[in-house]
Amino acid sequence: MKITGEMLIGARSVRGSEGIVRSINPATGEEIGPEFGGGSAKDVDAACSLAARDFDAYRAIDLEQRARFLEAIAQGIVDLGDLLVERVMSESGLPRPRVEGERGRTVGQLKLFAGLVREGRWLDVTVDRAMPDRKPLPRADLRAQKIPLGPVAVFGASNFPLAFSVGGGDTASALAAGCPVVAKSHPSHLGTSELVGRAIQKAVADCEMPEGVFSLLVGEGNAVGEALVAHPAIQAVGFTGSRRGGRALVAIAAGREVPIPVFAEMSSINPVFVLPGALAERAETIAQGLVDSVTLGTGQFCTKPGIVIGMEGPDFDRFERAAEASIEAKSATTMLNKGIHSAYEHGTKQWAGEAKVSKLASGQAASATCGGQPMLFATKGEPFLTTPALMEEVFGPATLLIACRNEEEMVAVAKHVSGQLTATLQLAERDIELARRLVPVLERKAGRILVNGFPTGVEVSHAMVHGGPSPATSDSRATSVGAMAIERFLRPVCYQDFPAALLPEPLQDSNPLHLWRLVDGKLQQP
Ligand code: NAP
Repeated sequence: MKITGEMLIGARSVRGSEGIVRSINPATGEEIGPEFGGGSAKDVDAACSLAARDFDAYRAIDLEQRARFLEAIAQGIVDLGDLLVERVMSESGLPRPRVEGERGRTVGQLKLFAGLVREGRWLDVTVDRAMPDRKPLPRADLRAQKIPLGPVAVFGASNFPLAFSVGGGDTASALAAGCPVVAKSHPSHLGTSELVGRAIQKAVADCEMPEGVFSLLVGEGNAVGEALVAHPAIQAVGFTGSRRGGRALVAIAAGREVPIPVFAEMSSINPVFVLPGALAERAETIAQGLVDSVTLGTGQFCTKPGIVIGMEGPDFDRFERAAEASIEAKSATTMLNKGIHSAYEHGTKQWAGEAKVSKLASGQAASATCGGQPMLFATKGEPFLTTPALMEEVFGPATLLIACRNEEEMVAVAKHVSGQLTATLQLAERDIELARRLVPVLERKAGRILVNGFPTGVEVSHAMVHGGPSPATSDSRATSVGAMAIERFLRPVCYQDFPAALLPEPLQDSNPLHLWRLVDGKLQQP
C-alpha cells in the first residue's frame, strides 16, 4: 500500500487543493514525503453528505456483519505490517516496542467492539408490556432500544497515532454503534492516518458496506476541523487532544442551529496521594514506580501523574530523595512534535519561575531535536492551593511533589483539584481511615481511582472508565476507552403500541436476535 497524500472520501481518493500539509520527523526535524493536499469546504461537504446518505443503510446492516466489518478493519491494520510501524515511528519519534504495543491495543479494541456488537446488550432492550385492564387507566405497550446518533466526526490525538486516531477507540465505538465516521487526520501523523484510513476503506469494500460509512479528511490549519463540526450532517464528535482544541470544538458544536454533543478528552494532572503508612513502608519503591510512570513514553500520556501529594516529615524526605535519584538516572527522549516540545519547555520554565516551587532534579539533558528532559519539582500545600498555574497540565516527563502539613491540608488539596481522568492512592493498612476521607472527594473529581498502582497504562476492557469532570473531558458522563464508550453515540427511542409487523427485531416478542432484555422490570437472559 502506498501513501499518496490524498484524502479518502467514501470509496474515492481525492487530492486536496487548499494548501499543503507536511509530516515532520520529530527526531531529525526533516520532512517526510509525500506532501498532503489540504481539504476544502467542498470536500468536507462531500464526506459528510455521503455519511448522511448511507447512515440508514449502515445502521440496518445486521449485527453479525457489522461485527465482521470491525474485525476486517483490525485485520487490515495488522496486514499493513512494518510499513505502518515504521511510518508511525518516523512521524512520532515513538520507539518500535511502543508502536507495536499500541497497534496490538488498537486491534484489540476493534475486536472488543466486534464482540460487543454481537452480544447486543448495549441496545438496552426494554419491554413494558401493555396492561389493558389496569385501573384507573390502562398502560400502553412500551418498548425501547438504543439507536445510533448518526455520522460522527473523529479527531485523533498526537500522542496515540493508532489507538486514539483514525482507527482508534472513537472510530471503533462509533462504527460499533452504527454511526458512519468522518475522521480528520492529525497533522503530526498524516501518513499513519492515510495508511489506517486505506485499511478501513478496503474493509468497507471487502465487507460490502455502504461507502459513506468512512471518510478521512486532511486540513491545513483548523478550518477543515471547524467545518466538519459545523456540518449539519454530523451528529456527534469524538476528540482527544488539547484543552484549547477541545473547547473550540465544543463552542462550535453548541453554536450550531442544531447543537450536538462533543466528547472531548483534554487535560488531566492525575493526582497521586502517597499516604503516611505507605511512605513509611515503601517510600523508595513508590518513588521508583512514580518516576517510571512519569517518564513512560516521555510523559506524553493523558494519565501521567502530574502532581504527587504527601505529608511532610522524614518519610516524605526519603521519598523525595529516592525520586530525585530515579529522575537523574532517566534520559531525555524524543517528544512527538515541535509544538509539544516547546509547550513542555514553556510549562516547566513556568513551574521553575513560581516563587514557592523548587526544581529538585532533572534527568540527562536532551541531545536530539525535541528531546524531553525529565524533571522533578517540589512545593508545599499552601502555595499549591493559591497558585492556579500549578493546576495546569504540563504535558511531558515532569511532575510536582506537594508536601502537606497535615491530613486537613491533604484533604483540602484533594478538594481543590479540578476534574481528572484518574486519582491514585498509595496506601498501607494503617492509611485506611485517611483514605476513607479522600475517596468520596476523589469520586467527585475523577473517572478512575486506583489503589497502589500508577495511572499510566489504560486497560481496554468492559469496566474501564477513561473520562472525568471538566477539564479532563467535556462530558463527565462518558468514557472514551473501553466498552462503555459505545454509549456516547447512541440514544434511546421508545415505540408505543407498535403492531408486531412494525416492531424493530430486537423488540419483537420472539426475541429473534437472542438479546438480553428487561421485560416488565425483570432482566431476561436470551
Ligand atoms: P490538538 O492540538 O488539540 O489537536 C488534536 C486535533 O484537533 C488535531 O487534528 C487538530 O488538527 C485538531 N484541532 C485542534 N484545535 C482545533 C481547532 N481550534 N479547531 C479545529 N480543529 C482543531 O492536540 P495534540 O496535537 O494531540 O496535542 C497538543 C496538546 O494537547 C499537548 O501539548 C497536550 O497538552 C494536550 N494533549 C492532551 C491529551 C490528553 O488526553 N489529556 C492528549 C494529547 C494531547 P489541526 O491542528 O489540523 O486543526
